[in-house]
Amino acid sequence: MTGGLQPRRIALISVHTSPLAQPGTGDAGGMNVYVWQTARRLARRGVEVEIFTRATSSADRPVVQAAPGVLVRHVEAGPFDGLDKRDLPGQLCAFSANVLRAEAAQAPGYYDLIHSHYWLSGQVGWLARDRWKVPLVHTAHTLAAVKNASLAGGDTAEPLGRVIGERQVITEADRLIANTRTEAAELIDLYDADPDKIDVVVPGADLDCYLPGDRAAARAALGLDPDDVLVTFVGRIQPLKAPDVLLAAMAPLIRADLTGRLRLLIVGGPSGTGLERPAALAELAATMGVADRVTFFPPQAPERLAQVYRASNLVAVPSFSESFGLVAVEAQACGVPVIAAEVGGLGVAVDDGITGRLVPGHDIDVWTRELAGLLGDPERLERYGAAAVGHARGFSWEHTTDALLASYTAAMDHFPSGPARRGALGRRRARGWLKNRPRMAG
Ligand code: UDP
Repeated sequence: MTGGLQPRRIALISVHTSPLAQPGTGDAGGMNVYVWQTARRLARRGVEVEIFTRATSSADRPVVQAAPGVLVRHVEAGPFDGLDKRDLPGQLCAFSANVLRAEAAQAPGYYDLIHSHYWLSGQVGWLARDRWKVPLVHTAHTLAAVKNASLAGGDTAEPLGRVIGERQVITEADRLIANTRTEAAELIDLYDADPDKIDVVVPGADLDCYLPGDRAAARAALGLDPDDVLVTFVGRIQPLKAPDVLLAAMAPLIRADLTGRLRLLIVGGPSGTGLERPAALAELAATMGVADRVTFFPPQAPERLAQVYRASNLVAVPSFSESFGLVAVEAQACGVPVIAAEVGGLGVAVDDGITGRLVPGHDIDVWTRELAGLLGDPERLERYGAAAVGHARGFSWEHTTDALLASYTAAMDHFPSGPARRGALGRRRARGWLKNRPRMAG
């Protein structure tokens, strides 16, 4: 990277995903982890981060110092409870108004840059960018056009309003962050994004937490049988994640397993209002005659989740669509092979035939065959698991943060310096705020 300005303080907008929420249930998942992990690392590199997220509880204090240099601002926009993600577009005006008010209460030129996560936040960031005259960097995380092209059976299509809203943000943003080259191509092909403003920034895993460890000790800590052969699913229980596909593919293997040792572990919480809940999967397991070989765990905090991975012989990520798939990398970082659907970022996260298997499509028989092939070859599982650790070490939040900083610098370098922006910078200089700048980024 060349040199350039590093932002002094950024407004990170994450309307529906608080970094303080437990991932693995409701709407909380990889995006929360991404925001939290990168925010803390940005702060350690000298960038103050203020995260704007919707208040979802009366207990949410308006401003929380979540980590050194990381402030979470709980923005009031609609009722705390009972608001589905699909209702949130109706609250964007309230959310934006309160973001603008928070900034207006500060000295001029308070934020140097806005980074929005998911299209709802992009809509807010777009408005704030025009008001504050600072660059908008946007990460889509998931794209409706991609999701709609590979819907799970029974899943509902994302509404046209989202596709239009995404396209607006993609057009307006000064820079776009794509998780993978595949996502960059989707932004260009499906949303006509300008290729010159896309940076591919691969997400990471917390490699201090997700480390290989003793399987027997992990099982003992979790109360799992030391002799079972354990296949594990980790994620929000929703059709997109396809835990039912995995269950249906595992059922014939479990029924045919004369040792009675094959077990499926499902970790995650409900994520929807219909059948998207563990209880529905438990009923499905009962109808398939395998209820006694399926264990459910509620969402787990990272340290315990690392134990879950270590306890597993194989982790399965059968999603219909996945812009990256943090679970696949975390499991591999713990030395566990992964069987994953060959979709989106999973093709990057898993090294097919080296650290696990990528399975095309969601045909149950194909999945059963692939699972049988792996589970019937413990030597191959061990080999994949050993290779997985090195592969996963290529994905770290430190790298992600470096690349984000490079993107921020590019956004600031290329941002048209209109009179208002010059004014803000001038006022800041006058106050001596630029004492330590310009700083070389990267
Ligand atoms: N996760 C967690 N506890 C759980 C289940 C999931 O902390 O019980 C975290 C997991 O570690 C991962 C994230 O939630 O970092 C899920 O990210 P992924 O990219 O796999 O899926 P997404 O939620 O983005 O669809």
